[in-house]
Amino acid sequence: MGTRPLLNRRLQGLGTTIFAEMSALATATGSINLGQGFPDTDGPREIAEAAARAVLTGQGNQYPPGPGIPELRQAVAEHQQRFHGLAYDPDTEVLVTAGATEAIAAALLALLEPGDEVIALEPFYDSYAACVAMAGAIRVPLTLRAPAFRPDLDELRSLITPRTRLLLLNTPHNPTGTVLTPEELTAIAALAVEHDLLVVADEVYEHLVFNGVHHPIAALPGMRERTVSISSAGKTFSFTGWKVGWVTASAPLVAAVRTAKQYLTYVSAGPFQYAVAEALRLPDEYFAGFRADLLRKRDLLADGLEAAGFQVFRPEGTYFITSDITPLGEKDGLEFCRSLPARCGVVAIPNVVFYDNTEAGRSLVRFTFCKRDDVLTEAVSRLRRL
Ligand SMILES: *Cc1c(COP(=O)(O)O)cnc(C)c1O
Repeated sequence: MGTRPLLNRRLQGLGTTIFAEMSALATATGSINLGQGFPDTDGPREIAEAAARAVLTGQGNQYPPGPGIPELRQAVAEHQQRFHGLAYDPDTEVLVTAGATEAIAAALLALLEPGDEVIALEPFYDSYAACVAMAGAIRVPLTLRAPAFRPDLDELRSLITPRTRLLLLNTPHNPTGTVLTPEELTAIAALAVEHDLLVVADEVYEHLVFNGVHHPIAALPGMRERTVSISSAGKTFSFTGWKVGWVTASAPLVAAVRTAKQYLTYVSAGPFQYAVAEALRLPDEYFAGFRADLLRKRDLLADGLEAAGFQVFRPEGTYFITSDITPLGEKDGLEFCRSLPARCGVVAIPNVVFYDNTEAGRSLVRFTFCKRDDVLTEAVSRLRRL
């Protein structure tokens, strides 16, 4: 095969995701897996039944329409109006994707030229680095630093160059739990307008904000025509395996993203699209109940981690807690996470893998709390043995 590496240069260094390593470790050691963020309880029964009914009655078993079934595009548009006061045309301004993951990939592949710079909040969700790399673009981190994990807006201004094309935002932010405030979003939007930048906003935790509400940057002046908003059914409805996501944006942006999307998967998850259309129309009590449930779990785990000696950064949103292991006499999160299953039967994720500036994340460790109360209680009692 010669000496040329098989993996192309763009993808070198991306290796296996940390989730694969840590989930394998959880299985091998029989540990409680608070690493990967998937719920251990499925979403609403009636939504699961809607999916089963769709399969059995032949709805979506054959290729659905490329942009997504009309029922789901309509439901996404209604949801954006109902929760955020944003109006989108379901025919031209909504695109259904294979989860938020495909939406992010398609947006970056469609909107970036090789050599373009993308400024993203660091720590990054793990697919961002890979997708920016696949697009041949360059990622530029805006580091959220402990203990507050707020974006430094002067630093953001200083990172913008003539090559900057796009801001990649994630709010509520995984893994820090930061929820960008209206003031922060207004300042970021002003920079985007001033420098004519596109914004890709990953909002998959839009329904998990614990003190206030989620503010979409697309709602701010000058932002609608430059923002690709992305969300997904996985987190909001506890069906992460269904992989139904969507994009809302102006018609020209949706057309651009659709061009890439149609050659990635073409379409996906036909019957699940019918079920998610129903899910998006669930009454307000569903969304409020989901948030209240996760808030209680947040405090259960946060209190437990504090009692076990971690420094806890109580998240404003998402279902993750970032903690610092320094008070436990530890320094290296990666080493700590690799040894934790053997030491006490719990799996966590070292935040350092989400950083380019690894110093900023070295002693930070992420736990998820989207697990049953008895599982969280047992995890906390195991961690107290540390
Ligand atoms: C889980 C997650 C995604 C992926 O969503 P899917 O719909 O499962 O593809 C994207 N972004 C963030 C920040 C996430 O936490």
